[in-house]
Amino acid sequence: MMNPTVVTKEPNKESDHLADMFPHLTSENFPPMGLETSEFRKAAHRIIDWTIDYHESLKCGRLPIPAVKPGFMKERLPNAGPAQKESWETVFGDVENVVLDGALHWLSSNYFGYFPTGISYPSMLGDMLCTSTANIGFSWASSPSCTELETVMMDWLAKALNLPDFFLHNGRGPGGGVIQGSASEATLITMLAARNKVTQEERSRDPKQSIHEITARMVAYASKYSHSSVERASKVALVNIRLLDVDENISLRGSILRNAIEEDRRQGKIPMFVCATIGTTACCAYDNILELGSICQNENIWLHVDAAYAGSALLCPEYRYIAQGLQSITSFNFNPHKWMMVNFDCSVLWVRNSLDIINSLNVNPVYLQHKDQTKAIDYRHWQISLGRRLRSIKLWFVMRMIGLEGLQHHIRKGVSQAKYFELLVRSDGRFEVVFPVTLGLVCFRLLSPDSTLEKTNELNSKLCEEIQRDRRYVLTPSSVNDVYFLRFSGGMNFCDVESVKGCWEHMREKADLVLHHCGDLKPKINSKV
Ligand code: PLP
Repeated sequence: MMNPTVVTKEPNKESDHLADMFPHLTSENFPPMGLETSEFRKAAHRIIDWTIDYHESLKCGRLPIPAVKPGFMKERLPNAGPAQKESWETVFGDVENVVLDGALHWLSSNYFGYFPTGISYPSMLGDMLCTSTANIGFSWASSPSCTELETVMMDWLAKALNLPDFFLHNGRGPGGGVIQGSASEATLITMLAARNKVTQEERSRDPKQSIHEITARMVAYASKYSHSSVERASKVALVNIRLLDVDENISLRGSILRNAIEEDRRQGKIPMFVCATIGTTACCAYDNILELGSICQNENIWLHVDAAYAGSALLCPEYRYIAQGLQSITSFNFNPHKWMMVNFDCSVLWVRNSLDIINSLNVNPVYLQHKDQTKAIDYRHWQISLGRRLRSIKLWFVMRMIGLEGLQHHIRKGVSQAKYFELLVRSDGRFEVVFPVTLGLVCFRLLSPDSTLEKTNELNSKLCEEIQRDRRYVLTPSSVNDVYFLRFSGGMNFCDVESVKGCWEHMREKADLVLHHCGDLKPKINSKV
């Protein structure tokens, strides 16, 4: 007699049948997450150990500048990916040779290039969680936590920087903040919002004008030392841009803007957007927000502030003087992923009236709609892409685990590194500091005894080449008013007094070398420190 509880022929038949019809439906040859769980656990632990060892190596002499030449990767990798899977050990074993050997090590204690890039353990942990949860929070419904944590974090951060209340979600007006991927995106989005707003105003005044005609008359303004992303935004938005002259402090002033606006209005153009910079990339100069703000308010022009680098310094009350006049601006952006210990990417943008952005980017197909959309924020209307990650979690971790005091310390340490380096530069009569050192950036150059600008630029360009050839220290060159100089940018996590001193000694050594080669000046030791 058969046991009725054991014999279940029907389901087997069905699964055999399904397996025949859809072999991939039931196959267990490939683990759903790409690795077996046990393999992942082992590999993930290994990566953490490796990370700590890698960071140690960056404090202990690993050269930050790679020796590779363009195209090196083709020689190290096959020209197509494998059909069959490779083991974690094999792939990970290639990381040193393929990736690290050709990487610029931004975390090196000898890194003083560009601007700092943000990193901290709390931020890295937040990023891991962001990756682990794989939430794509384009609307409130697609991840309520993604939306609401971001909203609260933007208010926390606005308060930490002492930004005007009209930027708060929790304030009285329609303002609020959003996390973007980059300062470039923030500038583009605000320019598009301004374009849309002006187009609507013009059309309601004269409905016969086409969008094309109106756009062709629009003009945006920025200083000629604003970041290249401002000019790029104007290309994408199809808006004319004027890059205006600056005063002797490399600051865009009200009088220069006013003249440009008047000239353009006389020609029937529509001034509609100004991008002011707090902390320019070339030399950390500051546009005059107070003056620009009152003009923009009177002229009904959108004033966006790009504080990509210097914005983090507003965490410290003593540096807030660089941003006077924020009460009259329309939008504000900075990159916590530069100097606020938050890993790339995290660029925060606040707008006085979020409807301006939403109206310019809102497209609402059925598949993205949800029943709560009139009651909640849908951040997809605040950005170019649809998908968005749970980036606010790293901000949350950083603000809680490092705290405002810890972040302030990080900023002050970066500024102190710059001030110390400035002191060292000033101690050697062969060098000069080119611009006032206000935050973490020191702009300096070697003086040429034959003091023509051309010769001095040539000398400094040689100095820069020597530094790069040597590979031990990372510094970036820049040029303002045709003066070529080097930038020392403090603020990376592992940089300390010794690395600042080391960098300075290195500069002196390289100066000896280039001066000797130029035959212009005998090396002169003139140490006052
Ligand atoms: N604005 C300024 C003042 C910058 O210094 C930079 C980059 O260094 C940017 C914009 C561009 O930043 P992102 O790479 O986030 O677009």
